[in-house]
Amino acid sequence: MENCIFCKIVAGEIPSPKFYEDEKMIVIKDIEPKAKVHYLCIPKTHFALLSEMDEEKAEIVKHCFRVIPTLEEKLGLTNGYRVIINQGEDGGQTVHHLHIHLLGGEKLKDF
Ligand code: 5GP
Ligand code: ZN
Repeated sequence: MENCIFCKIVAGEIPSPKFYEDEKMIVIKDIEPKAKVHYLCIPKTHFALLSEMDEEKAEIVKHCFRVIPTLEEKLGLTNGYRVIINQGEDGGQTVHHLHIHLLGGEKLKDF
């Protein structure tokens, strides 16, 4: 997808250290962390919203949620963490390539 910052990171066109990578997803540090530990799990396939999911995209999202728990120790999230997927305007989504925020490394404030 043209002009998508996360597609460019996935493709290596914008350098960003990848803490994990496989055929379906990458994990990078958020550039503006909102907690002591803040990673983004980014599917390699471009789509913005959960409502766009077909079976193939649902498999990719499922894969992300299967892998994330295996990375807890590596990412410093063994004491718990918060998972957020912002959706659309009201959800505060600023990058329109679906991504899963992983926040932790400290006791997070309640909503
Ligand atoms: P959203 O608001 O769409 O849920 O989250 C987008 C997130 O991507 C924000 O937390 C923002 O800090 C992060 N972000 C935006 N551009 C970049 C970038 O170029 N590199 C990295 N690592 N994170 C980015
Ligand atoms: Zn994209």
